[in-house]
Amino acid sequence: MDITTLARPGEDPHFVDAKPSFIVKLNKADALLEGGAELEIGWLPPLLAGARNSKIASGALGDIRCSEGVQMLEVPTALDRSRGDIHAAGNPHFLVDPANARIVAQHLADAFAKLDAAQAATYQSNLKKFTDALDAKLPEWQKKFESFQGAHITAYHNSWPYFAKRFGLQIDLFLEPKPGIPPSPAHLAEVITKMKEQKVKVIFHDPYLDHQTAGSVAGSTGAVVVEVTQFPAGAKGSEGGYIQMMEYLVNAVVKALAGQTK
Ligand SMILES: [Zn+2]
Repeated sequence: MDITTLARPGEDPHFVDAKPSFIVKLNKADALLEGGAELEIGWLPPLLAGARNSKIASGALGDIRCSEGVQMLEVPTALDRSRGDIHAAGNPHFLVDPANARIVAQHLADAFAKLDAAQAATYQSNLKKFTDALDAKLPEWQKKFESFQGAHITAYHNSWPYFAKRFGLQIDLFLEPKPGIPPSPAHLAEVITKMKEQKVKVIFHDPYLDHQTAGSVAGSTGAVVVEVTQFPAGAKGSEGGYIQMMEYLVNAVVKALAGQTK
């Protein structure tokens, strides 16, 4: 199997730089893996139309959407796109809950077993290796957050509700006023006031966002900035694979909550 990735690990998955060469890659693909839930709606549909590949067209066997079967959070009851909301199908940043990664892995193993029946047993045994490792790690990760239940964290973009729910955190203050809308001075002033009230000690910083905003809010509040990512190799120390990335995230966040970083 030959895998080509269109988005870089440090790139904003909502706004991937769509190069013309992607159309050629999509034209030759036997399968396309999407996050789904409209995560890629801003850049992928025109490339897919240009690729004219029936193997990965909507509903084809090779059209694999990772969000399928995942219980989505924050599905809006009323939608107003004029307010810039790019989470129209619910929050698409579900992979940082290991329980969701398990669902996605199962889905991928099933989908590839259909596409490539001769290798079905290999997909199943790789799935078992992955889920066994994940099942061993999850309670260990949850235990690390035991003394930080209910802790508040600020993020730039609302991409952490699944992580927050799984590990008992409250990641509900955002530097962006709305998903996809850049921060304004008035909004940041409000966030800073709330962070002081709630004694928020940690700000998440994603690799594709400007560091200055997070840094200046940290300076005004005494919080520390933690480099986070939802993709392996998106932040230094998260390289290797999903489990290594989660290990990095858990350790970096716990360390910051414990006040062990400067
Ligand atoms: Zn988002």
